[in-house]
Amino acid sequence: MNILVTGGAGYIGSHTVILLLQAGYRVIVYDNFCNASKESISRVKKIAGKEIITVEGDIRDKVQLRRLFSSHKIDAVIHFAGLKAVGESVEEPLRYYDNNVCGTVALCEVMAEHQCKSIIFSSSATVYGDPHTTPITEDFPTSATNPYGRSKLFIEEILRDLYVSDNTWKIVLLRYFNPVGAHPSGLIGEDPNGIPNNLMPFITQTAVGQRSCLSVFGDDYDTPDGTGVRDYIHVMDLANGHVKALVKLPEFNKVMTINLGTGTGYSVLDMVKAFEKASGREVPYCIAPRRAGDIAQCYADPGYAKEILGWEAGKGIDEMCADSWRWQEKNPNGYRK
Ligand code: NAD
Ligand code: UDP
Repeated sequence: MNILVTGGAGYIGSHTVILLLQAGYRVIVYDNFCNASKESISRVKKIAGKEIITVEGDIRDKVQLRRLFSSHKIDAVIHFAGLKAVGESVEEPLRYYDNNVCGTVALCEVMAEHQCKSIIFSSSATVYGDPHTTPITEDFPTSATNPYGRSKLFIEEILRDLYVSDNTWKIVLLRYFNPVGAHPSGLIGEDPNGIPNNLMPFITQTAVGQRSCLSVFGDDYDTPDGTGVRDYIHVMDLANGHVKALVKLPEFNKVMTINLGTGTGYSVLDMVKAFEKASGREVPYCIAPRRAGDIAQCYADPGYAKEILGWEAGKGIDEMCADSWRWQEKNPNGYRK
């Protein structure tokens, strides 16, 4: 089977491509490299020992997509391509809606033209807004507090409308919790541009000496140690969830919305301690004011993923930290030489 992976050069996409290749799928990566390096593709090929067709292009470019679908028979699409920085989305909402929403519409139009109607979409736990309780099940109310989150909600709705109009589509919406970690080889990992927004890359860059100190955003939340609690999930477990969803896709006869999380919440200070243990490095931190828009705690009920996909996360916090550290230590400047 030929799988088109949009955004396949990025963090989650590149890890997923490895598992797809290992499972025997043929992979075509389509990426405009706006937030990725071509080096990630070279390393994925090295890890998997297999070839990947890589096409540089934008999901909004229907001419190029048509050319791609005409020259390859695509059986299903795993759609990672998108912009994901919350703060940037507040400053540049139109760019986010154009890239994420218009890009997805263009992709689906071309898919439909070529009778390719199977798609797995990268949604996010951000669509739960500030949940009234935890753990979070898929039927919780959704809301968004920023354009990035709204772009995910809009796309979910658009894909549901698409299914209503034509129920031969096979659609899975995967709502990721907080991906961390890296491939155990240390060859690929998360390589954010500029100052990281997310906790784990900030921790690893502090440990490697690129940042002087981690700011812990708030210690007065209603959580066991006052710092924010999240459901961190190893990126290899997350990647595996996509392969499981792909296998089950033909059986689905409704739009499937599925949480991918571990079901366990860890605080910011839990993560700092676990990382220090795994790396043997100290992570200097100071308590800073709460970050606007942050919620106290968020973790998944992963029961539905287990029931429907036969999937559950297998890697714990120590492995997440050890693998994040291996990647950072071997590649202090990410993919840049
Ligand atoms: P990433 O930025 O590493 O990967 C996204 C990839 O998409 C990049 O390679 C980028 O170059 C590409 N891309 C962006 N816009 C494109 C366009 N218009 N055309 C073609 N390629 C384009 O991000 P990631 O962390 O791997 O996230 C993958 C997906 O998962 C995104 O949709 C993101 O919103 C979603 N997600 C990520 C997280 C997270 O914390 N990392 C959490 C929930 C959901
Ligand atoms: N966080 C922090 N310092 C940072 C980055 C994040 O204290 O430099 C906290 C943040 O307040 C939240 C948790 O770490 O409680 C996870 O943040 P991240 O941005 O990684 O994920 P999200 O908030 O989107 O779930």
